[in-house]
Amino acid sequence: MRRRAFSSGLLDMSDPWKVLIAMEEFCRVDPGLGLSAIASMFGSEILMLFGSDAQRERYLAPVMRGEMISAVAVTEPTGGSDVAGARSTMERVPGGYVLNGEKMFITNGTVADFYYVLARTSPPDSPEKRHRGLSVAIVERRWPGVTATKLRGKLGMRATDTAEVRFEGVRVPEENLVGEEGKGFYYIMTFFNISRVYVAAQAVGIAQGLLDLYSEYLSRRYGSRPPPEGAQFLLAEGITKVEAARLLTYRAASLIFQFRPDPALTSMAKYYAAEVANEVAQGVIAAMGEEGLRGRAEKLYRDAKITEIWEGTSEIEKLVIYRQLTRRSGS
Ligand SMILES: Cc1cc2nc3c(=O)[nH]c(=O)nc-3n(C[C@H](O)[C@H](O)[C@H](O)COP(=O)(O)OP(=O)(O)OC[C@H]3O[C@@H](n4cnc5c(N)ncnc54)[C@H](O)[C@@H]3O)c2cc1C
Repeated sequence: MRRRAFSSGLLDMSDPWKVLIAMEEFCRVDPGLGLSAIASMFGSEILMLFGSDAQRERYLAPVMRGEMISAVAVTEPTGGSDVAGARSTMERVPGGYVLNGEKMFITNGTVADFYYVLARTSPPDSPEKRHRGLSVAIVERRWPGVTATKLRGKLGMRATDTAEVRFEGVRVPEENLVGEEGKGFYYIMTFFNISRVYVAAQAVGIAQGLLDLYSEYLSRRYGSRPPPEGAQFLLAEGITKVEAARLLTYRAASLIFQFRPDPALTSMAKYYAAEVANEVAQGVIAAMGEEGLRGRAEKLYRDAKITEIWEGTSEIEKLVIYRQLTRRSGS
């Protein structure tokens, strides 16, 4: 399915609108399956923006053809929100680095050809400047010292691979350092400020998919008769919120795709769309009664939750919004 998605031109990153809409539409029907195709390119923006020509040719080009799978390894067992607190280290040695560390909840962890790994290359000058001294390197899964262990029993998105990845004395050649040493935190944050809009699109798709299921349920149950007022209200409120989330997402995306990203707007889109997806999921499952607990509605309900967590929890999105707004107002 992944290869078909690429060969049909659906996942053509030179047309990011197409990929964003593909994300939304996949998630409307089957988020796990859609994600397992689209997330095969996870992290590509890091190389597009900060990689060398040689890195783009060796790693990015095959990913864009659907021939390689990438992964982003940022989160550690000590916590994902505190990106600057990464404990993995890359120690300088002649010709490159030696990487040691442990990463957690890594999408594509056991199937990726390579990871974009965030690790510390120098100690911070002070606790306030912890974001400095972190670097990003491309690390191939087949290299000695890399171990990936699949994590099972997730609440949702079960069709995607999630793993714990360990790096023990992994030799990383100099040419696999992305961009400049010490700028990794900035690269990852820039990436999140793009990737979060795709999570917003996931949430919009999931919420729309749930409303589709509810409409079908009402048609089955009431035929051509109007459903009870409560059902009409649920549908009207749900579709209004989904449309608002969609417009916020498209607005944030349009700025990103014009190379004028607005981190506050992107975080608003992700935070709001994820909240709408989960609110709609609660309402629809409750309104469909026993039918809601089975089949696709139950699956979309479980898939919705992760949109509030990955690539920045809703709390982190709210902190970003607040910080960006206070920065703008100069307070
Ligand atoms: C299925 C799945 C796939 C994932 N894929 C990837 C991947 O491919 N690559 C990757 O690097 N990571 C991945 N992640 C990790 C994901 O990004 C993290 O789970 C997320 O960033 C939250 O980190 P955490 O789970 O460690 O929670 P924590 O950071 O420990 O947070 C726990 C709770 O504390 C709150 N919190 C934390 N800090 C603050 C604060 N300063 N202020 C207020 N509240 C706060 C959070 O909002 C949350 O409610 C994945 C996770 C899942 C579940």
